[in-house]
Amino acid sequence: MQEIRLASRPSGWPTADNFELVELPTPELGPGQVLVRNQFMSVDPYMRGRMNDVESYVAPFEVGKALDGAAIGEVVASNAESVPVGATVVHGLGWRDYAVLDAKRVRVVDPSAAPTPSAYLGLLGMTGLTAYVGLLDIAQFREGDVVFVSGAAGAVGSVVGQIAKLRGAKRVIGSAGSAEKVRHLIDDLGFDAAFNYKDSSVRDQLRAAAPDGIDVYFDNVGGDHLEAAIKFLNKYGRVALCGAISQYNETSAPAAPRNLALAIGKELNLRGFIVGNHNDRMPDFVAEVGGWLREGKISAQETIVEGLANAPEAFLGLMRGENTGKMVIKLGE
Ligand code: NDP
Repeated sequence: MQEIRLASRPSGWPTADNFELVELPTPELGPGQVLVRNQFMSVDPYMRGRMNDVESYVAPFEVGKALDGAAIGEVVASNAESVPVGATVVHGLGWRDYAVLDAKRVRVVDPSAAPTPSAYLGLLGMTGLTAYVGLLDIAQFREGDVVFVSGAAGAVGSVVGQIAKLRGAKRVIGSAGSAEKVRHLIDDLGFDAAFNYKDSSVRDQLRAAAPDGIDVYFDNVGGDHLEAAIKFLNKYGRVALCGAISQYNETSAPAAPRNLALAIGKELNLRGFIVGNHNDRMPDFVAEVGGWLREGKISAQETIVEGLANAPEAFLGLMRGENTGKMVIKLGE
């Protein structure tokens, strides 16, 4: 089997030298364990934070040890009655082609309920749940709201926008980093307005896209996006602070938002959240979003990179914006 290890800690933008592909013998199965042949693994922005040796809500990766993260695969050997050979399982040992786990650390899923198994890493997985919880519970979305979401063509953002439309938003506005992504948001996903944040200032483009202001801002980016959103939030506006990807590879502290004090007079509600603390919403999420998927009302956009050896490059591509929808690595059939 093969796994990818953290060879050294990056400073600023990671490079290929920070990763190492290692060949290993396939380990023996212990009692209650399963061997999973991974079909897809996920790369996610939060992994960048885990490459730093800092205290956070999740422990840092260790230098010289394999990275980990969400993966989906097929059980090919089992010492556990509850998880038979042939089962499709979601688990936390990505960044390798085969994984050995205690059966209680895998979740059996129905592959026929998704267009491809990889959907369990995106629309029907962690990023879909993040969109659902962040919009509905954290930002307290209400029918008739004007919603602005940054990182809108990505895994979380694309689902936020689609759920907002399906739940009766008055207007959904998205920002993304290319003309093609802007086209995709409007033509394929039904956003009412979208702009490329690289074209000119976020503030000016958001002003034009939101003539009546915004009620909800779903923040995936931080920095000047958050500053602009605070400016155009209406009274009692709500912000779900989901991520700040514009800052993950920076080595100095950000300048924006400089106008956080406006939150006082507008009586804004800005709330951070970590999706892992909201797993109680999984049944409602699967019922509602799974239903929309079966009815063809929501789409599971993905960017697929082939081969474990290309996973580090795919992770870097994610940080550079080379994905539309969920970035996943295909490891085998
Ligand atoms: P995406 O699929 O959105 O991929 C990341 C995207 O970020 C890229 O495609 C790129 O798109 C965009 N990006 C990169 N750099 C910048 C920048 N400087 N300014 C603006 N956009 C940038 O990733 P996810 O959907 O998985 O994650 C989105 C956000 O949600 C991240 O911040 C992540 O950390 C956070 N998150 C938080 C969770 C929580 O529990 N709070 C759980 C899951 C995710 P573009 O071409 O548009 O620049």
